[in-house]
Amino acid sequence: MVMDKLGSSLQDALKKLVGAGRIDERTVTEVVKDIQRALLQADVNVKLVMQMSSHIKERALKEEVPPGMNPREHVIKIVYHELISIVGRSADIPLKPQTIMMIGLQGSGKTTTTSKLSRYFQRKGMKPAVVCADTFRPGAYQQLKTLCDKLNVPFYGEEDNPDAVGIVERGLAELEKNDVLIVDTAGRHSLEADLIDEMEQIHKVAQPDYTLLVLDGAIGQQASEQARAFNDSVGISGVVISKLDGTAKGGGALSAVSETNSAIAFIGVGETPDDLEKFEPDRFISRLLGMGDIKSLIEKAEETLSEEDIDMEAMMRGRFTLKDMYSQLEAMNKMGPMKQIMQMLPLGGMGAKLSDDAYKVTEDKMKGYRVLMDSMTDEELLNPRLIGSARIRRISLGSGSSPDAVRDLLKYHKMMQNAMKGLRGGKFNMQKMMKKM
Ligand code: GDP
Repeated sequence: MVMDKLGSSLQDALKKLVGAGRIDERTVTEVVKDIQRALLQADVNVKLVMQMSSHIKERALKEEVPPGMNPREHVIKIVYHELISIVGRSADIPLKPQTIMMIGLQGSGKTTTTSKLSRYFQRKGMKPAVVCADTFRPGAYQQLKTLCDKLNVPFYGEEDNPDAVGIVERGLAELEKNDVLIVDTAGRHSLEADLIDEMEQIHKVAQPDYTLLVLDGAIGQQASEQARAFNDSVGISGVVISKLDGTAKGGGALSAVSETNSAIAFIGVGETPDDLEKFEPDRFISRLLGMGDIKSLIEKAEETLSEEDIDMEAMMRGRFTLKDMYSQLEAMNKMGPMKQIMQMLPLGGMGAKLSDDAYKVTEDKMKGYRVLMDSMTDEELLNPRLIGSARIRRISLGSGSSPDAVRDLLKYHKMMQNAMKGLRGGKFNMQKMMKKM
């Protein structure tokens, strides 16, 4: 997954919020701290992180919770919107006949992105073509030609001719029957005078509708410096951030670009021609926060489970009895494989607390538990701690099972009880909350 480290840290922070007893200043402060840590680790600028933190805190504690929402949902919504605002605007590159000029430093991923972009337009039913004006990097011509040939995208280049401007002129004339013309230009190791000079000359000849700057996501915060410098020299209409699949600094690159007021058009998320995504801040953040998982859980829950089936309040009562446990397991089993369900629950990291064994509650095992529980007294069912070794023997004899089976049930109960501890102290309806999200 793209930026999974940042995503999982942010998701953990939100889980804490959902699992917390009360949404008070302490909880908000703690969650905001987690979010800060996650963003700083992704190389987001400290000042930006601090600004955003104080926005979240202020809004979470001062804004009135809108009708139909509970405080938890409200804070999650605030976090979601604040994150969208730091990754900024997206640049829309329309699906119409146009010329696009690609610029960027050497190694930024410009050539790869050029082929991905042609694939993007191809998939949308357009007729893209590519001109290779990278006469600086040895091998650029062959690399781009091979990629275009594979995609069946018309290609123009002149191997060994250093006259980039002439190539662009001839290339655009030759490929004019195609509707989207993409010009790949040369980079350098830094933004030096002869690169600027060359870009300006090509710009004059190509007269592109859009000039896209390709930035390597791994440069993190330095993205702002580069975006500014390129914008000052030739002007950019949008940015493509490449290599977001392989870097922990993606958050830094995204927010730094947004800080320069440049818009992000696409993100590169892998090495193949299909690994390019149109950048849409709201979808991007909702994926990062795992909203999709939560939504699919809601759908699943709605299909198979009525609201009464899982009695969250019973789960969060101080006492979690064997009877409670059994009815929860029954309800959970209706929903599908335990492991899948538990991992999707945003409940205070509960999924993480249960060991693998906890998921292996098959129907057979449930039947075994039922038989054992039938041999227990009501008092024992309400308070399993009363069950000592003499009673274990009695129960096993009475139910025709082994003493180990009784111990196994008690152990399982204890494990579930511990996991439930994370949920205690708060009263909220998980299902309702998830429906609203
Ligand atoms: P150029 O010098 O700017 O034309 O850079 P290239 O297009 O040759 O890319 C440099 C390296 O980055 C190549 O090895 C590419 O495969 C790799 N690359 C480019 N974009 C991505 C991306 O989105 N993800 C990953 N993982 N690698 C990428």
